[in-house]
Amino acid sequence: MSSNISPYEVAIKQLEKAASILKLDQQTIEILKRPQKIIIVNIPVKMDDGTIKVFTGYRVQHNNFRGPYKGGIRYHPEVNLDEVIALAMWMTWKCAVVDIPFGGGKGGIVCPAKYLSQAEKERLTRKFVDMIAEEIGPEIDIPAPDVYTDAQTMAWIFDEYSRIKGYPAYGVVTGKPIELGGSKGRTQATGYGVAICTREAAKIYNIDLKEARIAIQGFGNVAYYAAEKLYQFGCKIIAVSDSQGGIYDPDGLDPIDVMKYKQKTGTVVGYKNIKKISNEALLISDCDILIPAAIENQITGINADKIKAKIIVEGANGPTTPEADEILFKKGVMVVPDILANSGGVTVSYFEWVQNMQKYQWEEEEVLRKMEEKLVKAFYEVFKISKQYGIDMRTAAMVLAVKRVIDAMNLRGIG
Ligand code: GLU
Repeated sequence: MSSNISPYEVAIKQLEKAASILKLDQQTIEILKRPQKIIIVNIPVKMDDGTIKVFTGYRVQHNNFRGPYKGGIRYHPEVNLDEVIALAMWMTWKCAVVDIPFGGGKGGIVCPAKYLSQAEKERLTRKFVDMIAEEIGPEIDIPAPDVYTDAQTMAWIFDEYSRIKGYPAYGVVTGKPIELGGSKGRTQATGYGVAICTREAAKIYNIDLKEARIAIQGFGNVAYYAAEKLYQFGCKIIAVSDSQGGIYDPDGLDPIDVMKYKQKTGTVVGYKNIKKISNEALLISDCDILIPAAIENQITGINADKIKAKIIVEGANGPTTPEADEILFKKGVMVVPDILANSGGVTVSYFEWVQNMQKYQWEEEEVLRKMEEKLVKAFYEVFKISKQYGIDMRTAAMVLAVKRVIDAMNLRGIG
């Protein structure tokens, strides 16, 4: 019962499972297992108190057979190369599942993001861009926000890169502020996509959304917008959480009101004196649908059997281990995998990039409608494969994604 399996080991196991269904040969598997390029930089940054600290930054470019590398950059003290490689690989599959013309990449900087001042964060970001400028670009590798990076961080990346190149290179990064070429709808996109996948999965299980009790681990950008949309659909949001713990109300919470409280106090805990629940207990709480939307490695061989939800929709990247996947599949729990469930974000990133190329801005309604179309189509393609082979939704999504990547590879040729 290994709950401390590394994200890269998880990613490899998932790939191998899909590869055996697709009957891939070992050479092809070798190509897909390894990232095409790993960039490591050590970034000296002058801190506000005048001292200099050196932070390590990574950009991993996993695969570009289907288009430029695409994926976020995270700032976190626990970022490590193993994790960034796994996340880059998941981006390759994510872009392929939802059928957008990008490959997969990911970046990360090991830093105490929460405790950096805005000025320190800006200097760190600009220096990172200076050091990797030749490796990114609108047709090469397009970063985006991830954990502890946001539209402001993307604005600095855009500005620094544009200064180096001598022209405004809007397409170098997505998730920008709307005033700087960002797309309407990008902020909500990932969470709304999670809600859309939840709605479709509920249909399959004949769960009436108006009666569905939903527990959400997390209350960051993805969790919040998923909660907001599901609340609109009429669902009962019975639990949400953050790093300090969670709150649980069987009568349902109003996510907008909880967010107002969190913005004031920094946590959801303490909201209207509602019962506190730990992050671990939230996962096994009495609910119909569970949305892990915080961090990796949450549903493992240790707790999978105790899960009461009939459907799990992964807002976070990599929250479920392969061991847990097997237990859940045997129990008849549907897991809508991260590479499908949270692909609304990168889908709208793609739309942002298209708008930047067109030098034209679409209305929010159009952006979100196009995102929904892509997601619903991908959802049923994956569902169909899962039925056809009698496999879980993750493996089905992987089969679809890996096949698309290999088709591109074979058409291009590797010789
Ligand atoms: N970081 C997000 C993800 O994991 C978005 C990536 C993007 O928009 O490129 O999907």
